[in-house]
Parts: sequence; C-alpha cells; structure tokens
Amino acid sequence: MAAVALLAARPAPAPGGPARKAGPLPAAGWRVRPHSLRSVPPPGVAGRGGARAARPTRAAMGGCDLFALDFDGVFCDSCGESSLSAVKAAKVRWPWVFERVDAAMEEWIVERMHTLRPVIETGYENLLLVRLLVEIQIPSVRKSSVADGLSIQEILENWSKLLPTLMDEWQEDRESLVDLFGRVRDDWLENDLSGWIGANRFYPGTADALKLSNSELYIVTTKQSRFAGALLKELAGVDFPSERIYGLGTGPKVKVLQRLQEMPQHQGLTLHFIEDRLATLKNVIKEPALDKWNLYLVKWGYNTQKEREEAGAISRIQLIDLPDFSKQLK
Ligand SMILES: [Mg+2]
Repeated sequence: MAAVALLAARPAPAPGGPARKAGPLPAAGWRVRPHSLRSVPPPGVAGRGGARAARPTRAAMGGCDLFALDFDGVFCDSCGESSLSAVKAAKVRWPWVFERVDAAMEEWIVERMHTLRPVIETGYENLLLVRLLVEIQIPSVRKSSVADGLSIQEILENWSKLLPTLMDEWQEDRESLVDLFGRVRDDWLENDLSGWIGANRFYPGTADALKLSNSELYIVTTKQSRFAGALLKELAGVDFPSERIYGLGTGPKVKVLQRLQEMPQHQGLTLHFIEDRLATLKNVIKEPALDKWNLYLVKWGYNTQKEREEAGAISRIQLIDLPDFSKQLK
C-alpha cells in the first residue's frame, strides 16, 4: 500500500496553545508521497530537524514506517469532554446518587477527574469514577464498601482492584455503561457540536505532525471510532480515513497490532506504537509475537511521573516529548 500523507501544510499552532480549529480540507486531502523523495541521512547523521542518531529512527531504518498511534492523551486532550460526558451519563444511570450533587460539587468532581485520568483505560470507567467520587463525599448514597475515607491517591494506586469491586457491588455491566456513555456523547455531539468539540483540544503540534507525515498511519484507540474521526476532522482539520481508525470494539490493542503487522501490504515496514498509557505498552512487551514493534511512551498525556520513571527503566520503551513526536512521524 502506498504511504499516505496530507501535503497541505497548515500554519503551526501558537506555542503553548492548543491546535486551532481548522476548516474542511481540500478534496485532494490524502495523497501519495513517494518515499524516494524523502531525505534520509546516512546512519549516525542527524536528519532533518536534528533527529537524534542514537535511536532506531528512520535514519537507521532506511525503509518505510508504520505508526500505530493512540488517540486520547497522544493527539487529543479529551479529559474535559470525557469528564463532563461522564457526569451527564452518570446522572442518567444513577439519578438518585446525584440528587444532592450541586454545581460546586460537580466542579470538584471534574477537577478530580483530571487527576484521576491516568487510571482510565476505556471511557465507561469515567462513569464509575464520577459515582465513586460522589459516594466518597455523600455517605447517604454510598453503596460500595470501598468509598468510606478513600483518597484520590488510593484510587490512583488501586484502580485495577477497585474497578471490579465497584462493578460487582453496584451490579453494573460493562456493555450497558459503554453504550450509555456513547449515547450521551452522541446526544451532546448532535445537539451542540461546537460545545462538544470545544471541550477537547489537540496537543500543540500533533495535528501538524499528522498532516505532514508520509508514513503509514493508523489510529489505535479505546475510544469509539466515530468520535476520534469527528475530532480529527473538526479540531485537526484532517479527514483521516475511517478504515485506518481501530476504535472501541475492534479488539484489544495487542490484537490490533498483530493484525496490522500481519497484513500483506505491511510486510517489510518498520513498526512503531506510540501510547501514553504504560500498562498498554507493558501488555505489548508480554506478547512475543509483537517483538518487532518499537514502543514509545509520550511524556505528555495521561501518565504520571512515577510511570514515566518506570518506563525509563524498561529498555524496550523510548520516552518521547512533543518535538520528538513530530520528527518521528515524518
Ligand atoms: Mg491514551
């Protein structure tokens, strides 16, 4: 398969600020850029933009690259949107829990959700966290055995154990919560597109990195594909091919990576997986079939300093910052 690239360069976003909303792209959006046109410096020599020679970057690779890219926490800071959507959805699911929740407590909840974001793997977990925060604050609505005296730090450290306990004690099922969360977002998106889009932002430079890349790009996310596609279009100004977005329901990320690497058109490509969630990268490391993937943890997004330090000690994982990201994707 030919590499795709969006050749219509756009101005870089203001330093320190989110990528600006861009209008629709010209019809010639995704076009083929022959790899032979790329400037590939000899091994050991820094490439365009000062790419570091020590890494297995394209200088060493020489060939074509395939990038599997996480979405939330890599391209898109969706924490504001997901927290507000979760509050809306939790009110639908458990109205009695929210009877005594006023605007000030809602604001407190959304603030705490920013701190708790690193623990979330899939969107529906936002609903559980929102309800748990209410149960911590209001004893009379408490139905879980764990809420009494629970601190934010304890949630951060123990979420993988708390989650199944809460699901069990609240007698919830994952599919219903996933479905409800999706419907609440659909309603918001349908009735107030600009409000919904405005609750998200792209990390500075990431939209341009996507547009200027001439590598094979795939989005691999636990978000529903239609939401990732809408944000790419409305916030980044990119009509990203929907068949290149592997969203919620397409299987665990390790399985998606395996499928991508097995596709005949991807044979011979150098494989890269960029994530903001350390646990996901560790799952890839556990899978011998995925040994060929170069793994990257971004220094922005939803991970903690402790996780970045842990990743730094794992030889398979490279930590990258925003300027590295743009260079890697080229
Ligand atoms: Mg992520």
